[in-house]
Amino acid sequence: MSTTTLAARVSRIDSSGIRKIFDLARSLKDPINLSIGQPDFDVAPVVKDAAIAAITAGRNSYTQTQGIPELRALVASDEKAFTGRDYAPDQVLITSGVSGGLFLALLALVDDGDEVIIPDPYFVMYKHLVNLFGGKPVYLDTYDTGFGIDAERLEKLITRRTKLLLLNSPANPTGRILPKTQLDNIARVCARYGITVIADEIYRLFAYGPMTSMAEVYDNTLVLVGHSKTFGMTGWRLGYACGPKEIVEAMTKVQQYSFVCAPSVVQYAALACPQVDHSGNLAAYRRKRDLMLSILRPTFEIGSPDGAFYLWAKAPAGMTGDQFVQKAIENNCLIIPGSVFSERNTHFRICYTVPDAKLKAGAELLVKLATA
Ligand code: PMP
Repeated sequence: MSTTTLAARVSRIDSSGIRKIFDLARSLKDPINLSIGQPDFDVAPVVKDAAIAAITAGRNSYTQTQGIPELRALVASDEKAFTGRDYAPDQVLITSGVSGGLFLALLALVDDGDEVIIPDPYFVMYKHLVNLFGGKPVYLDTYDTGFGIDAERLEKLITRRTKLLLLNSPANPTGRILPKTQLDNIARVCARYGITVIADEIYRLFAYGPMTSMAEVYDNTLVLVGHSKTFGMTGWRLGYACGPKEIVEAMTKVQQYSFVCAPSVVQYAALACPQVDHSGNLAAYRRKRDLMLSILRPTFEIGSPDGAFYLWAKAPAGMTGDQFVQKAIENNCLIIPGSVFSERNTHFRICYTVPDAKLKAGAELLVKLATA
């Protein structure tokens, strides 16, 4: 055994819940796998060609820390089109995925003991990164507000130490999109207390209804957007952050001594992304969502699946989320227990980016297990 003493901060994070599911996925033979949080389509040929051309043309060196100017200009014009907001070049930072953006933002903003409000259920990484960086996650329960955010409840959680609110819309794991009225109310509360909002909008183009960006309604928003889901590029590690100049500059400083820059080839390849038509993928996932709802809704209570590609379902009466997931796994169907994404243990998450035949088989099995 090594005598090395690990840093105390490592003991503040725990990856066992989700790792157990992925280890199980490897051990099962041809499972119905509804646990994977990524799209099932490949990178578009035009983007692959652009990556190959970039490699061949020798675009293989470090780039500027902030990202290549052409991509930052493209990001600024995309943001203008999506949110109406004008970002100056020093308000845009190209990151290694949204994970990279979250890492830099929290490192740049969270001091020891700072409180970060996280709506529960939440994307797993939020809680663990806040803990890793010495912050204190403060959970805003959303189960009885249809997974939306009640501004009064938010205000009650604010203390002298509250630094940030971490929003995710459309959300993983619930699929919920926060309506503009809620965003307006959140903005009013955050403005009153000088709270910065980090808005993780990685699923913003997987919206099956109206989608408003937090950046549209609140100046003090750092918006994080990524290419992973929209362009099937999860392994390519690209995303970006836009927001207040001081925050983006601080993140750039941290990037200089950590990631250095987002992958150069991928940055050049992303210049071809505007040529990709996303509408077919969006329509396919909407159809898959509807297929799943038609089978599951009569049996399960399901949150508002307005976007992303997840369903958040309540375990049958008398069972915790963990217990139901255990039963599903024993029957060769992989889903993720809600306890991975929440301080509660009542739900489970389904990801529906798999072929229809598997989806149908999975949904029918879950219904059978719930009613057996
Ligand atoms: N935010 C959310 C809500 C996510 O679901 C994910 C991926 N599962 C990420 C961020 C990280 O994505 P990436 O680092 O690939 O951009």
